[in-house]
Amino acid sequence: MISRRLVGFATLGLPLLATRQARAYRPGAGLEIVRLDRPGEASVNSYLLVGARSVVVLDCQRTAVEARAVVAAASGLGLPVEAIVLSHEHPDHIVGLDVVARAFPEAPIMAGEGTRDWIVREGPALLGAMRGAFGAAIPDRIPEPSRILRPGEMIRLAGTEWRVDQLGPGEASGMTVLHAETEDVLFAGDLFGSRATPWLLDGHARAWIAQLETALPRYGGIGTGLPGHGAAAPVAALIREQLGYLRAFESLVRTELAGGASLPEGAAARIRGATDARFPGYPRVAPQPNLIELNAQSFARELAGR
Ligand SMILES: [Zn+2]
Repeated sequence: MISRRLVGFATLGLPLLATRQARAYRPGAGLEIVRLDRPGEASVNSYLLVGARSVVVLDCQRTAVEARAVVAAASGLGLPVEAIVLSHEHPDHIVGLDVVARAFPEAPIMAGEGTRDWIVREGPALLGAMRGAFGAAIPDRIPEPSRILRPGEMIRLAGTEWRVDQLGPGEASGMTVLHAETEDVLFAGDLFGSRATPWLLDGHARAWIAQLETALPRYGGIGTGLPGHGAAAPVAALIREQLGYLRAFESLVRTELAGGASLPEGAAARIRGATDARFPGYPRVAPQPNLIELNAQSFARELAGR
C-alpha cells in the first residue's frame, strides 16, 4: 500500500521511513552489504558496500525521495563515502544520483562508458518525462559520471577487490557488473531480478536471454548475487529464474503471434493472464500498471522484426 501511495504523493516525502534497511548479507569480517529498497511495486535496490574504513553506494533509486533515504543510511554509518557506482542507464537506478552526489561531493561517480554517454545524451529528456509522473521528486540534473569503469579492470571498493565486467545490450543498452571473488559476491544490476516482473521495453529481450545463457557458466558458481530488484540469492538460481521467466514469456508471445506481424486482438491481455498465473505476485520493476501488456507488445515487435 505504501508503494502505491508513493507514486501519487512522492513530492510529500512521506515514504522515507518506509524504505527498508535490511542487513542482507554478512560475507566476512571485512565487508558488509546493506540492501536498500522500498517494498511493493516498482521497488528497486540500492546497495551499500560497507568496508572497515569506507562505504560505496551502488545505484541511486528512481526519485529524490528514495535517494534521500539512501543518503541517510549511508551517512548514518559514520564512514566516508568512497564512490558511487551506477549499473546502467535506466531511470530507477540513476535519477536519484543528483541527491546522492550532492550529499557526498568527494565521491567519484563510476559507470560504464555507455551509461555515461547515455546520461549526457538523454538525461535532460529523461528528467522531463519523469517530472510528468513524479513532479518535484525529480532532481533537475543527472550528474555526469566522472570515472569510467573499463571492462576487465580490477578496482578496490570498500576495501575489497572487484573485477568490472561490461555486458552488452540485454535488459538495458549495457550492464556494469562487479565480481568480488574473495567475498563470493556478484553485483549484477539488472542482469537479473529476483521474482520480479521485468522491463522488456528496450526491445532486445532476445539478446538478454542470450546474455543470461552466457552468464550461467560464467557466474553460476558465485554464492551471492545482488539483483537490481528483489532479494539476494545464489547467482545460478537467479540466472535460471530470470531465464525461465523470459523463455516462458517469449513462448507465450510467439504462440499468440503465430508468425504474424503483430499481436491479435486480446492477445496482450491473455499473455498477462497466463503470466500472472505462472508467476503470481511478481512485483513490477517499473510503475506502469500494464507493464506485462507493454512487454508483450514490445517482444512481439522484436520477434516480428519490426
Ligand atoms: Zn531496474
